[in-house]
Amino acid sequence: MNDYLSTKRGRYGKFGGTFIPELLVAPIQELEKAFNAAKNDKGFMESFYSLLKNYAGRPTPLTEVSRFAEAIQGPRIFLKREDLLHTGAHKLNNALGQCLLAKKMGKTRIIAETGAGQHGVATAAACAHLGLTCVVYMGSIDMERQAPNVLRMQLMGAKVVSVQQGSCTLKDAVNEALRDWAESFTNTHYCLGSALGPHPYPEMVGHFQSCIGEESHAQCTQDLGKNPDYVIACVGGGSNAIGIFSAFLNDPTVHLIGVEAGGHGTQLGEHAARFQANTRGVLHGCYTVVLQDEHGQIAETASISAGLDYPAVGPAHAHLSETKRVDYVAVSDKEALAAFKLLAQTEGIIPALESSHALAYLMKIAPTLEKDKIILVNLSGRGDKDLPQWMKG
Ligand SMILES: *Cc1c(COP(=O)(O)O)cnc(C)c1O
Repeated sequence: MNDYLSTKRGRYGKFGGTFIPELLVAPIQELEKAFNAAKNDKGFMESFYSLLKNYAGRPTPLTEVSRFAEAIQGPRIFLKREDLLHTGAHKLNNALGQCLLAKKMGKTRIIAETGAGQHGVATAAACAHLGLTCVVYMGSIDMERQAPNVLRMQLMGAKVVSVQQGSCTLKDAVNEALRDWAESFTNTHYCLGSALGPHPYPEMVGHFQSCIGEESHAQCTQDLGKNPDYVIACVGGGSNAIGIFSAFLNDPTVHLIGVEAGGHGTQLGEHAARFQANTRGVLHGCYTVVLQDEHGQIAETASISAGLDYPAVGPAHAHLSETKRVDYVAVSDKEALAAFKLLAQTEGIIPALESSHALAYLMKIAPTLEKDKIILVNLSGRGDKDLPQWMKG
Protein backbone atom coordinates (compact mmCIF):
# COMPACT_ATOMS: atom_id res chain seq x y z
CA MET A 1 0.00 0.00 0.00
CA ASN A 2 1.53 3.35 -0.91
CA ASP A 3 1.50 6.58 1.09
CA TYR A 4 -1.17 8.34 -0.93
CA LEU A 5 -3.74 5.57 -0.55
CA SER A 6 -3.21 4.43 3.03
CA THR A 7 -6.33 5.42 4.89
CA LYS A 8 -7.36 5.66 8.48
CA ARG A 9 -10.91 4.30 8.56
CA GLY A 10 -11.53 5.48 5.05
CA ARG A 11 -10.03 8.97 5.20
CA TYR A 12 -7.83 10.08 2.33
CA GLY A 13 -6.36 13.26 3.82
CA LYS A 14 -9.49 15.23 4.67
CA PHE A 15 -11.67 13.39 2.16
CA GLY A 16 -13.75 10.21 2.35
CA GLY A 17 -15.33 8.93 5.56
CA THR A 18 -18.69 7.35 6.29
CA PHE A 19 -21.60 9.82 6.18
CA ILE A 20 -24.58 7.49 6.33
CA PRO A 21 -28.00 7.28 7.96
CA GLU A 22 -28.37 5.09 11.07
CA LEU A 23 -30.13 2.44 9.04
CA LEU A 24 -26.99 1.72 7.02
CA VAL A 25 -24.51 1.57 9.89
CA ALA A 26 -25.00 -2.16 10.51
CA PRO A 27 -24.47 -3.35 6.89
CA ILE A 28 -21.54 -0.96 6.36
CA GLN A 29 -19.78 -2.23 9.50
CA GLU A 30 -20.43 -5.83 8.50
CA LEU A 31 -18.98 -5.13 5.06
CA GLU A 32 -15.91 -3.34 6.42
CA LYS A 33 -15.15 -6.30 8.66
CA ALA A 34 -15.65 -8.84 5.85
CA PHE A 35 -13.50 -6.87 3.40
CA ASN A 36 -10.66 -6.41 5.88
CA ALA A 37 -10.63 -10.15 6.49
CA ALA A 38 -10.93 -11.06 2.78
CA LYS A 39 -8.13 -8.83 1.49
CA ASN A 40 -5.69 -10.57 3.85
CA ASP A 41 -7.13 -14.02 3.17
CA LYS A 42 -4.89 -15.87 0.72
CA GLY A 43 -7.63 -18.32 -0.23
CA PHE A 44 -10.09 -15.53 -1.05
CA MET A 45 -7.61 -13.56 -3.13
CA GLU A 46 -6.61 -16.72 -5.01
CA SER A 47 -10.25 -17.41 -5.89
CA PHE A 48 -10.56 -13.80 -7.04
CA TYR A 49 -7.45 -13.96 -9.25
CA SER A 50 -8.63 -17.27 -10.66
CA LEU A 51 -11.93 -15.66 -11.70
CA LEU A 52 -10.04 -12.72 -13.25
CA LYS A 53 -7.89 -15.11 -15.25
CA ASN A 54 -10.25 -17.90 -16.21
CA TYR A 55 -13.59 -16.09 -16.46
CA ALA A 56 -12.76 -12.45 -17.20
CA GLY A 57 -9.73 -13.00 -19.44
CA ARG A 58 -6.92 -11.28 -17.55
CA PRO A 59 -4.23 -10.23 -18.11
CA THR A 60 -5.40 -7.73 -20.72
CA PRO A 61 -2.74 -6.78 -23.30
CA LEU A 62 -0.77 -3.58 -23.72
CA THR A 63 -1.08 -2.40 -27.34
CA GLU A 64 1.22 0.12 -29.01
CA VAL A 65 -0.81 2.38 -31.34
CA SER A 66 1.77 3.86 -33.71
CA ARG A 67 -0.64 4.97 -36.44
CA PHE A 68 -2.73 6.87 -33.89
CA ALA A 69 0.50 8.35 -32.44
CA GLU A 70 1.61 9.46 -35.89
CA ALA A 71 -1.77 11.04 -36.64
CA ILE A 72 -1.57 13.20 -33.53
CA GLN A 73 2.18 13.93 -33.85
CA GLY A 74 2.82 12.26 -30.55
CA PRO A 75 5.51 10.08 -28.99
CA ARG A 76 5.10 6.32 -28.37
CA ILE A 77 1.61 5.53 -27.08
CA PHE A 78 0.45 2.32 -25.40
CA LEU A 79 -3.13 1.37 -24.50
CA LYS A 80 -4.02 -0.83 -21.54
CA ARG A 81 -6.77 -2.87 -23.15
CA GLU A 82 -9.56 -3.09 -20.55
CA ASP A 83 -11.89 -2.98 -23.56
CA LEU A 84 -10.88 -6.60 -24.13
CA LEU A 85 -12.00 -7.72 -20.68
CA HIS A 86 -15.15 -9.88 -20.66
CA THR A 87 -18.30 -7.68 -20.87
CA GLY A 88 -16.22 -4.89 -22.43
CA ALA A 89 -14.93 -2.71 -19.60
CA HIS A 90 -12.85 -2.69 -16.41
CA LYS A 91 -16.05 -2.83 -14.30
CA LEU A 92 -15.99 -6.64 -14.19
CA ASN A 93 -12.86 -6.69 -11.98
CA ASN A 94 -14.79 -4.98 -9.19
CA ALA A 95 -18.09 -6.80 -9.76
CA LEU A 96 -16.38 -10.20 -9.49
CA GLY A 97 -14.52 -9.14 -6.34
CA GLN A 98 -17.63 -7.85 -4.59
CA CYS A 99 -19.90 -10.71 -5.64
CA LEU A 100 -17.31 -13.23 -4.45
CA LEU A 101 -17.10 -11.37 -1.13
CA ALA A 102 -20.92 -11.27 -0.86
CA LYS A 103 -21.05 -15.02 -1.32
CA LYS A 104 -18.43 -15.48 1.38
CA MET A 105 -20.61 -13.31 3.65
CA GLY A 106 -23.59 -15.60 2.99
CA LYS A 107 -25.58 -13.08 0.92
CA THR A 108 -27.77 -14.48 -1.85
CA ARG A 109 -29.05 -11.27 -3.48
CA ILE A 110 -27.04 -8.48 -5.12
CA ILE A 111 -28.27 -4.96 -5.88
CA ALA A 112 -26.37 -2.48 -8.03
CA GLU A 113 -26.77 0.91 -9.65
CA THR A 114 -25.65 1.67 -13.17
CA GLY A 115 -25.21 4.73 -15.40
CA ALA A 116 -23.71 3.65 -18.72
CA GLY A 117 -24.97 0.16 -18.03
CA GLN A 118 -21.45 -1.29 -17.94
CA HIS A 119 -21.45 -1.86 -14.19
CA GLY A 120 -24.94 -3.36 -14.43
CA VAL A 121 -23.82 -5.73 -17.18
CA ALA A 122 -20.68 -6.70 -15.24
CA THR A 123 -22.71 -7.33 -12.07
CA ALA A 124 -25.37 -9.31 -13.95
CA ALA A 125 -22.62 -11.48 -15.48
CA ALA A 126 -20.84 -12.01 -12.14
CA CYS A 127 -24.17 -12.95 -10.49
CA ALA A 128 -25.08 -15.41 -13.24
CA HIS A 129 -21.65 -17.03 -13.01
CA LEU A 130 -21.68 -17.22 -9.21
CA GLY A 131 -25.36 -18.13 -8.81
CA LEU A 132 -26.66 -14.95 -7.15
CA THR A 133 -29.94 -13.04 -7.64
CA CYS A 134 -29.36 -9.65 -9.28
CA VAL A 135 -31.38 -6.39 -9.25
CA VAL A 136 -30.01 -3.32 -11.07
CA TYR A 137 -31.30 0.24 -10.53
CA MET A 138 -30.95 2.48 -13.58
CA GLY A 139 -32.19 6.00 -14.37
CA SER A 140 -34.92 6.03 -17.01
CA ILE A 141 -32.89 8.43 -19.22
CA ASP A 142 -29.84 6.18 -19.01
CA MET A 143 -32.03 3.18 -19.89
CA GLU A 144 -32.93 4.96 -23.10
CA ARG A 145 -29.44 6.03 -24.11
CA GLN A 146 -27.90 2.64 -23.22
CA ALA A 147 -30.69 0.35 -24.45
CA PRO A 148 -28.43 -2.50 -25.66
CA ASN A 149 -26.95 -2.85 -22.17
CA VAL A 150 -30.42 -3.10 -20.62
CA LEU A 151 -31.16 -6.07 -22.86
CA ARG A 152 -27.83 -7.69 -21.99
CA MET A 153 -28.57 -7.47 -18.26
CA GLN A 154 -32.04 -8.93 -18.73
CA LEU A 155 -30.70 -11.76 -20.87
CA MET A 156 -28.26 -12.69 -18.09
CA GLY A 157 -31.14 -12.92 -15.63
CA ALA A 158 -30.99 -9.55 -13.87
CA LYS A 159 -34.05 -7.49 -13.03
CA VAL A 160 -33.56 -3.88 -14.22
CA VAL A 161 -35.56 -1.31 -12.24
CA SER A 162 -36.26 2.02 -13.99
CA VAL A 163 -35.66 5.02 -11.70
CA GLN A 164 -37.86 8.03 -12.45
CA GLN A 165 -36.69 10.44 -9.74
CA GLY A 166 -34.67 13.67 -9.96
CA SER A 167 -32.59 13.82 -13.13
CA CYS A 168 -33.40 10.14 -13.87
CA THR A 169 -29.67 9.31 -14.11
CA LEU A 170 -26.92 7.70 -12.06
CA LYS A 171 -27.15 9.66 -8.80
CA ASP A 172 -30.88 8.90 -8.57
CA ALA A 173 -30.19 5.21 -9.20
CA VAL A 174 -27.67 5.25 -6.32
CA ASN A 175 -30.35 6.77 -4.03
CA GLU A 176 -32.79 3.98 -4.90
CA ALA A 177 -30.17 1.26 -4.39
CA LEU A 178 -29.32 2.68 -0.95
CA ARG A 179 -33.03 2.73 -0.05
CA ASP A 180 -33.36 -0.94 -1.05
CA TRP A 181 -30.26 -1.87 0.94
CA ALA A 182 -31.49 -0.24 4.15
CA GLU A 183 -34.36 -2.76 4.14
CA SER A 184 -32.72 -5.81 2.62
CA PHE A 185 -29.18 -6.09 3.98
CA THR A 186 -29.72 -9.30 5.92
CA ASN A 187 -29.61 -11.26 2.65
CA THR A 188 -28.43 -8.54 0.21
CA HIS A 189 -25.08 -6.99 -0.73
CA TYR A 190 -24.96 -3.59 -2.45
CA CYS A 191 -22.36 -3.90 -5.22
CA LEU A 192 -21.29 -0.27 -5.79
CA GLY A 193 -19.69 0.36 -9.16
CA SER A 194 -16.98 2.95 -8.60
CA ALA A 195 -14.34 4.02 -6.10
CA LEU A 196 -16.70 6.26 -4.15
CA GLY A 197 -19.46 6.14 -1.55
CA PRO A 198 -18.95 5.51 2.17
CA HIS A 199 -15.95 3.63 3.52
CA PRO A 200 -15.10 0.77 2.82
CA TYR A 201 -16.28 1.13 -0.80
CA PRO A 202 -13.60 3.49 -2.18
CA GLU A 203 -10.83 1.35 -0.71
CA MET A 204 -12.48 -1.95 -1.66
CA VAL A 205 -13.21 -0.97 -5.26
CA GLY A 206 -9.69 0.47 -5.60
CA HIS A 207 -8.31 -2.81 -4.26
CA PHE A 208 -10.24 -4.93 -6.77
CA GLN A 209 -9.22 -2.60 -9.65
CA SER A 210 -5.54 -2.46 -8.70
CA CYS A 211 -4.95 -5.46 -10.99
CA ILE A 212 -4.99 -2.95 -13.90
CA GLY A 213 -2.02 -1.05 -12.48
CA GLU A 214 -0.13 -4.13 -11.30
CA GLU A 215 -0.33 -5.71 -14.76
CA SER A 216 0.53 -2.45 -16.54
CA HIS A 217 3.55 -1.97 -14.30
CA ALA A 218 4.80 -5.50 -14.99
CA GLN A 219 4.11 -5.19 -18.74
CA CYS A 220 5.93 -1.85 -19.01
CA THR A 221 8.90 -3.25 -17.08
CA GLN A 222 9.02 -6.31 -19.31
CA ASP A 223 8.36 -4.70 -22.71
CA LEU A 224 9.98 -1.28 -22.22
CA GLY A 225 12.35 -1.78 -19.31
CA LYS A 226 10.91 1.26 -17.54
CA ASN A 227 7.79 2.97 -16.28
CA PRO A 228 5.85 5.18 -18.70
CA ASP A 229 6.44 8.95 -18.49
CA TYR A 230 2.71 9.68 -18.51
CA VAL A 231 -0.33 7.66 -17.44
CA ILE A 232 -3.69 9.05 -18.54
CA ALA A 233 -7.15 7.78 -17.53
CA CYS A 234 -10.69 9.12 -17.64
CA VAL A 235 -12.37 9.85 -14.30
CA GLY A 236 -16.04 9.23 -13.61
CA GLY A 237 -16.24 8.01 -10.02
CA GLY A 238 -12.59 7.19 -10.45
CA SER A 239 -12.23 3.40 -10.37
CA ASN A 240 -10.36 2.72 -13.62
CA ALA A 241 -8.09 5.70 -12.92
CA ILE A 242 -7.24 4.67 -9.34
CA GLY A 243 -6.76 1.10 -10.58
CA ILE A 244 -4.04 2.10 -13.03
CA PHE A 245 -2.55 5.03 -11.03
CA SER A 246 -2.08 2.97 -7.86
CA ALA A 247 0.93 1.10 -9.27
CA PHE A 248 2.73 4.32 -10.29
CA LEU A 249 1.94 6.73 -7.43
CA ASN A 250 5.23 6.03 -5.66
CA ASP A 251 7.34 6.81 -8.73
CA PRO A 252 7.52 10.62 -8.88
CA THR A 253 8.88 10.52 -12.46
CA VAL A 254 5.50 9.21 -13.71
CA HIS A 255 3.20 12.09 -14.61
CA LEU A 256 -0.42 11.09 -13.80
CA ILE A 257 -3.38 12.76 -15.49
CA GLY A 258 -7.11 12.23 -14.84
CA VAL A 259 -9.56 13.45 -17.47
CA GLU A 260 -13.12 14.49 -16.60
CA ALA A 261 -16.15 15.17 -18.79
CA GLY A 262 -16.21 18.81 -19.93
CA GLY A 263 -19.63 18.26 -21.52
CA HIS A 264 -20.92 21.01 -23.80
CA GLY A 265 -20.20 24.14 -21.74
CA THR A 266 -18.59 25.58 -18.61
CA GLN A 267 -21.79 26.61 -16.78
CA LEU A 268 -23.01 24.50 -13.88
CA GLY A 269 -25.25 21.81 -15.37
CA GLU A 270 -23.40 21.63 -18.69
CA HIS A 271 -20.54 19.33 -17.66
CA ALA A 272 -19.28 16.85 -15.04
CA ALA A 273 -15.85 18.46 -14.46
CA ARG A 274 -15.81 18.41 -10.67
CA PHE A 275 -12.22 19.61 -10.29
CA GLN A 276 -12.83 22.73 -12.39
CA ALA A 277 -15.10 24.22 -9.71
CA ASN A 278 -13.35 22.22 -6.96
CA THR A 279 -15.99 22.72 -4.25
CA ARG A 280 -16.39 20.23 -1.40
CA GLY A 281 -19.43 18.52 0.00
CA VAL A 282 -21.01 15.22 0.96
CA LEU A 283 -22.75 12.97 -1.55
CA HIS A 284 -23.71 9.32 -1.15
CA GLY A 285 -21.85 8.79 2.08
CA CYS A 286 -18.55 10.50 1.49
CA TYR A 287 -16.92 13.94 1.79
CA THR A 288 -15.30 14.83 -1.49
CA VAL A 289 -15.25 17.23 -4.44
CA VAL A 290 -18.82 17.65 -5.73
CA LEU A 291 -20.68 19.86 -8.17
CA GLN A 292 -23.21 21.96 -6.27
CA ASP A 293 -25.02 25.28 -6.49
CA GLU A 294 -24.52 28.22 -4.12
CA HIS A 295 -27.00 26.67 -1.65
CA GLY A 296 -25.11 23.37 -1.53
CA GLN A 297 -27.70 21.55 -3.64
CA ILE A 298 -26.11 18.86 -5.79
CA ALA A 299 -25.98 20.13 -9.37
CA GLU A 300 -27.24 18.46 -12.51
CA THR A 301 -24.45 17.23 -14.77
CA ALA A 302 -24.12 16.65 -18.49
CA SER A 303 -21.84 14.51 -20.64
CA ILE A 304 -22.09 12.62 -23.87
CA SER A 305 -20.72 9.68 -21.92
CA ALA A 306 -23.08 8.26 -19.30
CA GLY A 307 -20.19 6.66 -17.39
CA LEU A 308 -18.63 10.06 -16.58
CA ASP A 309 -21.92 11.84 -15.89
CA TYR A 310 -21.88 12.02 -12.08
CA PRO A 311 -21.61 15.04 -9.73
CA ALA A 312 -19.04 13.61 -7.26
CA VAL A 313 -15.59 12.08 -7.60
CA GLY A 314 -13.99 9.37 -5.46
CA PRO A 315 -12.26 10.67 -2.31
CA ALA A 316 -8.84 9.26 -3.24
CA HIS A 317 -8.86 11.53 -6.30
CA ALA A 318 -9.87 14.56 -4.21
CA HIS A 319 -6.80 13.86 -2.08
CA LEU A 320 -4.51 13.22 -5.06
CA SER A 321 -5.65 16.53 -6.54
CA GLU A 322 -5.12 18.45 -3.33
CA THR A 323 -1.63 16.97 -2.85
CA LYS A 324 -0.93 17.73 -6.53
CA ARG A 325 0.25 14.17 -7.21
CA VAL A 326 -2.28 13.87 -10.06
CA ASP A 327 -3.40 16.59 -12.49
CA TYR A 328 -7.11 16.68 -13.32
CA VAL A 329 -8.25 18.21 -16.61
CA ALA A 330 -11.40 18.15 -18.72
CA VAL A 331 -12.24 17.77 -22.41
CA SER A 332 -15.51 18.50 -24.19
CA ASP A 333 -18.06 16.13 -25.74
CA LYS A 334 -16.85 17.25 -29.18
CA GLU A 335 -13.20 16.54 -28.42
CA ALA A 336 -14.10 13.09 -27.07
CA LEU A 337 -16.09 12.27 -30.21
CA ALA A 338 -13.12 13.29 -32.42
CA ALA A 339 -10.84 10.93 -30.45
CA PHE A 340 -13.45 8.14 -30.65
CA LYS A 341 -13.42 8.41 -34.44
CA LEU A 342 -9.66 8.82 -34.83
CA LEU A 343 -8.74 5.72 -32.80
CA ALA A 344 -11.31 3.66 -34.71
CA GLN A 345 -9.96 4.82 -38.07
CA THR A 346 -6.22 4.63 -37.35
CA GLU A 347 -6.15 1.45 -35.25
CA GLY A 348 -9.39 -0.51 -35.69
CA ILE A 349 -10.21 -0.11 -32.00
CA ILE A 350 -13.55 1.47 -31.03
CA PRO A 351 -13.02 3.02 -27.59
CA ALA A 352 -15.81 3.71 -25.10
CA LEU A 353 -16.80 7.40 -25.11
CA GLU A 354 -15.55 7.47 -21.51
CA SER A 355 -12.07 6.28 -22.52
CA SER A 356 -12.21 8.65 -25.51
CA HIS A 357 -11.92 11.52 -23.03
CA ALA A 358 -8.45 10.30 -22.02
CA LEU A 359 -7.45 9.94 -25.67
CA ALA A 360 -8.83 13.41 -26.47
CA TYR A 361 -6.68 15.07 -23.83
CA LEU A 362 -3.65 13.21 -25.18
CA MET A 363 -4.49 14.52 -28.68
CA LYS A 364 -4.32 18.07 -27.29
CA ILE A 365 -0.92 17.73 -25.64
CA ALA A 366 0.73 15.19 -27.96
CA PRO A 367 2.50 17.67 -30.29
CA THR A 368 4.12 19.39 -27.29
CA LEU A 369 5.60 16.17 -25.81
CA GLU A 370 9.22 15.15 -26.41
CA LYS A 371 9.40 12.28 -28.89
CA ASP A 372 11.26 9.92 -26.56
CA LYS A 373 8.45 9.97 -23.98
CA ILE A 374 6.22 6.96 -23.36
CA ILE A 375 2.51 7.45 -22.79
CA LEU A 376 0.19 4.87 -21.26
CA VAL A 377 -3.55 5.39 -21.66
CA ASN A 378 -6.07 3.24 -19.81
CA LEU A 379 -8.57 2.20 -22.46
CA SER A 380 -11.25 1.52 -19.87
CA GLY A 381 -13.84 0.01 -22.21
CA ARG A 382 -15.03 -0.67 -25.73
CA GLY A 383 -17.37 1.64 -27.60
CA ASP A 384 -19.88 -0.65 -29.28
CA LYS A 385 -22.46 0.52 -26.72
CA ASP A 386 -21.89 4.12 -27.85
CA LEU A 387 -22.81 3.82 -31.52
CA PRO A 388 -26.25 5.45 -30.99
CA GLN A 389 -24.55 8.48 -29.36
CA TRP A 390 -22.06 8.59 -32.24
CA MET A 391 -24.90 8.66 -34.80
CA LYS A 392 -26.45 11.60 -32.97
CA GLY A 393 -23.19 13.48 -32.26
C1 LIG B 1 -18.09 3.28 -15.85
C2 LIG B 1 -17.02 3.57 -16.82
C3 LIG B 1 -16.10 4.60 -16.60
C4 LIG B 1 -16.18 5.54 -15.44
O1 LIG B 1 -16.08 4.95 -14.18
P1 LIG B 1 -14.77 5.01 -13.30
O2 LIG B 1 -15.19 4.47 -12.00
O3 LIG B 1 -14.34 6.45 -13.22
O4 LIG B 1 -13.75 4.19 -13.97
C5 LIG B 1 -15.08 4.76 -17.52
N1 LIG B 1 -14.97 3.98 -18.61
C6 LIG B 1 -15.87 3.00 -18.86
C7 LIG B 1 -15.70 2.19 -20.09
C8 LIG B 1 -16.91 2.76 -17.98
O5 LIG B 1 -17.78 1.78 -18.24
